[in-house]
Amino acid sequence: MSDTTAPTDEAPLGDLGAPEPDERPDLWPSTARRGADGALEIGGRGLEEILAQAPTPVFVLDEADLRARAATWSAVMAEEFWPRYGMNGGEAYYAGKAFLTTRVARTVLTEGMGIDTASRVELAVGLAALQAVDGQGATSRATRLGLHGNGKTLAEISVALHHRVGHLVLDSLEEVGLAAQAVRDLRAAGVYAPDETGSVMVRLTTGVHAGGHEHISTGHEDQKFGISVATGAALEACRAVVAAPELTLHGLHSHIGSQILGHEGFVEAVGIVLRLRHDIAESTGVLCEEIDLGGGLGIAYTGLDPVPPSPADLARALAQAVRTGCQELGDGVPRVSVEPGRSVVGPTTVTLYTVTGLKTVELGPGASRLYVSVDGGMSDNLRPALYGSAYTALLANRRPDPAAGLVRARVVGKHCESGDVVVRDVDLPGDLAVGDVLAVPATGAYGRSMANNYNLFTRPGVAWVADGEQGWVLRPETIEDLLRLEGD
Ligand SMILES: *Cc1c(COP(=O)(O)O)cnc(C)c1O
Repeated sequence: MSDTTAPTDEAPLGDLGAPEPDERPDLWPSTARRGADGALEIGGRGLEEILAQAPTPVFVLDEADLRARAATWSAVMAEEFWPRYGMNGGEAYYAGKAFLTTRVARTVLTEGMGIDTASRVELAVGLAALQAVDGQGATSRATRLGLHGNGKTLAEISVALHHRVGHLVLDSLEEVGLAAQAVRDLRAAGVYAPDETGSVMVRLTTGVHAGGHEHISTGHEDQKFGISVATGAALEACRAVVAAPELTLHGLHSHIGSQILGHEGFVEAVGIVLRLRHDIAESTGVLCEEIDLGGGLGIAYTGLDPVPPSPADLARALAQAVRTGCQELGDGVPRVSVEPGRSVVGPTTVTLYTVTGLKTVELGPGASRLYVSVDGGMSDNLRPALYGSAYTALLANRRPDPAAGLVRARVVGKHCESGDVVVRDVDLPGDLAVGDVLAVPATGAYGRSMANNYNLFTRPGVAWVADGEQGWVLRPETIEDLLRLEGD
């Protein structure tokens, strides 16, 4: 199953070409364009300049684009949930698992987003960035950070409570018990005042099924995340939080999936979350302050994908659903937060590869396919192998010769797996040659963050470009880095 809907096999030659940046701006970093020499340019730097400092394979992140996307998310949530319009405030937390370094975290924090983390190390990176942005002492009240995830340990929950993260999202009844214990420990250690409580949220399984692929759609019932609303388990867990003298039930959390291209699933989830909030209030007297509606807004990866809804469109739909839902239930309006990852960082980044080999494979009478090998693959982009994800690739170092026509190609990596596909189907210039550079757009989310060392490939670096300048967000891994980890 593909997480995009491109029916590529019978597409006429020409339909699967990569759109140029001016044809589909949503697919590319906002500063990407063809320079006077015909080569791609990003962040005011020509391809040759970029590659002189950052040889392929490499991710190139347009920092101005990242900044603008983070600022947009903060602004649309603040505007749509502006208290004067009868709402109660809105915020956007960047889902750090899409791609997190302290530089990325500082950038999104500076533009008004919080940061949602999914592990102890992601949380540590968020805390380091918060310290750098907000100054000394801020990390004892890390209200702009969140921690979620299933199977959290006492140690993980304790770290989050110690720093008083704004969104500690509990994922099971057992975690409710662990959080209460962590607060008792923090009180005993003098970190918390004797009557201070730990502020927690509860992750709901709403039964809403949305998103591109079974592995990334998370709202339906039979899976590892969340606590079921339908079975009553969620109400029970929330009652347990309210009953625990160590805890405060700050809010409810729902994340229905990823790569979602419509509003319907989100709106449906809002109804279920608000209904449960109402039921909790009826049974305990506590009306939760906040609901977190998770991430999941999709992006385009190829020219066949539709232009996705904008953050403003989604925020407006959510605000409408929250307003009418609360009116129907007769409840006060909660604060509302979202946790976008892919839509913040995905389109800001392209991967540059060098073509290292060309091979034509005969498929039958009159049919053949060009296999284009590049100097990367499933170690820097696992998504095609993991989800069957579709990407596209553009000749980046020059304009093609129009007389050479097009050829249907499959771009493959250099790993020892036949499933090591970078782009399954793409129409590339007929004069493509070894040494040419291909740009694969929309690799900023779940690209470098899922990178691995299969075949002992060193993980590529992520270069930032902005205003004609360039540096490293992450340096490329070296062989020495890998050897340093070996034991005796
Ligand atoms: C993955 C995830 C997100 C971000 O999802 P995107 O599709 O990248 O926007 C947000 N919240 C939670 C809980 C997640 O697991």
